[in-house]
Amino acid sequence: MADNILNSPKMAEAAKKRALVIGGSLGGLFAANWLRAIGWDVLVFERVEDDLASRGAGIGTHEELLAVLRRLGLKVDDSIGIQVRTRICLDESGRVTHQLEQPQYMSAWARVYRLLKDVLPSEAYRFGATLARLEQDSGGVTAVFADGATERGDLLIGADGIRSTVRELIAPHVQPAYAGYIAWRGVADEWEFPADTHAELFEKYTFCLPEGEMMLCYPVPGRDNDTRPGRRGYNFVWYRPTDGGRGPLPDLCTDANGHCHGMAIAPPLIRPEVIARIKSEARALLAPQIAGIVERTQPFFQAIFDLESPSLVYGRVTLLGDAAFVARPHVGMGVTKAALDAESLARCIAAADGELDGGLARYDLERRRFGTRIVARARRLGAYLEAQHKPVAKRTAAERRQDPGVVMREIGSNAVDLRELTA
Ligand SMILES: Cc1cc2nc3c(=O)[nH]c(=O)nc-3n(C[C@H](O)[C@H](O)[C@H](O)COP(=O)(O)OP(=O)(O)OC[C@H]3O[C@@H](n4cnc5c(N)ncnc54)[C@H](O)[C@@H]3O)c2cc1C
Repeated sequence: MADNILNSPKMAEAAKKRALVIGGSLGGLFAANWLRAIGWDVLVFERVEDDLASRGAGIGTHEELLAVLRRLGLKVDDSIGIQVRTRICLDESGRVTHQLEQPQYMSAWARVYRLLKDVLPSEAYRFGATLARLEQDSGGVTAVFADGATERGDLLIGADGIRSTVRELIAPHVQPAYAGYIAWRGVADEWEFPADTHAELFEKYTFCLPEGEMMLCYPVPGRDNDTRPGRRGYNFVWYRPTDGGRGPLPDLCTDANGHCHGMAIAPPLIRPEVIARIKSEARALLAPQIAGIVERTQPFFQAIFDLESPSLVYGRVTLLGDAAFVARPHVGMGVTKAALDAESLARCIAAADGELDGGLARYDLERRRFGTRIVARARRLGAYLEAQHKPVAKRTAAERRQDPGVVMREIGSNAVDLRELTA
C-alpha cells in the first residue's frame, strides 16, 4: 500500500479511528484508500445501488494524478489510458490551423474507479446507502441513512459531489454558481471511424473553436477500459453558452412529457429534437471530420458550475473533491484535485500525532488554498465562454477573442505548469 506515512508514535491510537465516507465515486475511493493507508477503519456509503463502473466519460489526466496512484501502491502502466502527443486545432473546413506537442494520458472515469475500488475489501463499501442526516458531538459523528440505519465514526467525509448532502446539512449557504454554459459530451467507438479520419486525428487531442464556443476531442479507453487499437473510444466535450439562440438551460432540461428537471437531466430523457439539433449544429459549425464523430454518438450535456467552500472542516465533518470545490472542467483537474485532497487529509491527520482537530485544521488550510486557486484559473479559462452573455462592447479583449495557441497550451495542463498554483 502507500509509501510509509505511518511513522507517528501515536499511530497505534490512530489505528483505532473510524471514518465514514459519504459518496463512493472517485473522491470517496481516494479518501478510503488513503485513510486505510494510515491505519484507519473506513466505511464508504454510496447511494447508487449498483457498481458505478459503467458511469462516466473520458478524463484528461495529469502527471500529479498518476503520481498519487503510484504513491498508493497501485499499478499505473500504459493501460491507464491512451497517450496523445500532439494537439491540433481544426477550422470549420477541417483544415489544421495550429499544432502543438504536449504529451498527456487520456483515461476514463471507469478505469480509475476500477483501480481504486478493486483494492478495497467489499465489506468496506456499501451500495444503496443514502445519507439523510448527521449528528455530531465531542466524541464523533453519527450518520443517519434514508432507510433509518445509523453508523458512528470519529470523522465523516463528505465526498458526495457538487450537490453534496453533507455540505447541504452543515453549510447550506454554500451553493454552486452556474457559469452560463454547458458541456455537450459523447463517446464514439473507434471501430466506427472512417479510415481517413482515424489516420488524421484519432490519436491526437483536437480542438475546434467556433465563435463563442469551444470543443475538444481525444481518445479514451473503450468499453471495459480496453486500450487496444481498434477497441478504444473517442470522447468529445463541446462547451456552448446557453440562451442566445442555443436554447435556454431549463428548456434543454425539459423532457418529452414537458417536465423540467432543473439544471440537469438524465441523458436518456433528453428530447430527441434537442439531440437532432445539436447534431445539425455540429454539421454547421464544426470541422466536418468532428461533426461526423458527433453524429455517431448519443450526446448528453452537463451544466458548468463554480463552487467554493469557505471552510472544508466543520467539527468532525470534512468536505473533499467536488463537494468542497468545483473548478470548471477546462483545467481537467476534478479527479486530480480529489486525489490530492484525499492524500493531504491522510497526511495531515498522520502528521498531527493523534491530534485530529489539528490535522483537520491543517487540511482545511492546504486544500482551501489549492481549491480557491484552481477555481480562479478555471474561471479565467472559461471567461470567453461566459462573456458571450455580455454585449460585445462590454467584453475585455480576452473575452472577445479566443487565441487558439493559448487555448491549446492551457486547457488541461499539468498542475506544476500552472502559474496560479506555483505563485
Ligand atoms: C464536462 C466535464 C468534464 C470533466 N473532465 C474532467 C477531466 O478531463 N479530468 C478530470 O480530472 N475531471 C474532469 N471532470 C470533473 C470530474 O468528473 C469530477 O471532478 C470528479 O468526478 C469528482 O469526483 P467526486 O468523487 O468528488 O464527486 P462525484 O463523482 O460527483 O461523486 C459523488 C458521489 O456521491 C454520491 N452521493 C451523492 N449524494 C449522496 C448521499 N446523500 N449519500 C450517499 N452517496 C451520495 C453520488 O451518487 C456519487 O457517486 C469533468 C467534469 C465535467 C462536468
